[in-house]
Amino acid sequence: MAPRSLTARRATWSAPGRVNLIGEHTDYNDGLALPFAIPMCTTVHGVARDDAIVRVSSTGRDPIEFGTSTTPGEVFGWGAYVAGVVWAMSTAGHRVPGADLQITSEVPVGAGLSSSAALECAVTLALADLAALDLAAGEIVTIARRAENDFVGAPTGALDQTASMYGRAGHVVCFDARAMSCEAVPCDPEAEGLMLLVIDTGVGHRHAGGEYAQRRAGCADAAAQLGVRSLRALDVESLDRHLARLDVRHRPLVRHVVTENERVRRTVEHLRARRLREVGPLLTESHVSLRDDFAVSIPELDTAVDTALHAGALGARLTGGGFGGSVIALVPRERMDDVVQGVRVEYADRGFATPSFMPVAPSAGAGATSDPTRR
Ligand code: ADP
Ligand code: MG
Repeated sequence: MAPRSLTARRATWSAPGRVNLIGEHTDYNDGLALPFAIPMCTTVHGVARDDAIVRVSSTGRDPIEFGTSTTPGEVFGWGAYVAGVVWAMSTAGHRVPGADLQITSEVPVGAGLSSSAALECAVTLALADLAALDLAAGEIVTIARRAENDFVGAPTGALDQTASMYGRAGHVVCFDARAMSCEAVPCDPEAEGLMLLVIDTGVGHRHAGGEYAQRRAGCADAAAQLGVRSLRALDVESLDRHLARLDVRHRPLVRHVVTENERVRRTVEHLRARRLREVGPLLTESHVSLRDDFAVSIPELDTAVDTALHAGALGARLTGGGFGGSVIALVPRERMDDVVQGVRVEYADRGFATPSFMPVAPSAGAGATSDPTRR
């Protein structure tokens, strides 16, 4: 990605959050996922400093300050996401200038819409611009992911950062974690009279928490037991044979990952043929697999899915790591009100937190805010 100006002392860059249409808990298994960039962005306005200090402010949070030679363990909390980027850029051999960074964001935090990747990508872009570095999008993904994995300490895959960097209006990003490649696949709900609706349960998820790490370790153990590099090496045709060779406790994890990769492939086929409606049942199958086999759902997510389907959604699933966060539902335009009302009423009846609703169209990826191609 070319810097906006080689002599910039100021730089303003935005990076969007993302929602994953389908392909959950596959990225760290070298698998396939279909995220897309959402219209909500995090924006970083940066001004270069003449010293080696980074000062960061973000709406509603106490400002933080650290040196450009910061290392993991020196900055905690939300500042770790920013300091992690500075550290990851430095360790990649880039000189990072001192800077004042001002952050604003429309991406809900902890809702499974990847406010963390939006923050990391926007910070990387702004600092690269201030340093007159011409970083490729793939390199930015790597820097942002290292910040999250090795500085913040959240063992996530590269899915979120890839979606934020490579998102394109009217398209989902087919991400292949084995090839580390991605391809834009057309997805235009409006053209088919449909809408993609995010239902935020209001229950914050905990990615860095033990549950995510446990599932991840379980998948790695299972791959080792089967003598394959990753679960991507397995296909649905030979799944039963592989399952029979595994510990009983690993079987559901493997069944989810292998069938989920297959659901992504089928979703891509439908999207290419402009049959988004047909994707609905695959979304619901994905949810059932995440609920029953991967065991990452909670009652709030299940209730949103079941109620949305009952009110006319063509399909719905939890999106993001699970244990809270959001549901994505595919809804015919004329059923939107029924779905929103239905979930609202059901949540109130069950005494759950108040949910929020965001219609999301696949949108542009990260870019300079002055870039006219961004919507
Ligand atoms: P998600 O990425 O799904 O929103 P995460 O737990 O991965 O949830 O990341 C959320 C964390 O990222 C927040 O708790 C905060 O530390 C940091 N963060 C995200 N957006 C911002 C922001 N605009 N300002 C400051 N910190 C942010
Ligand atoms: Mg995140």
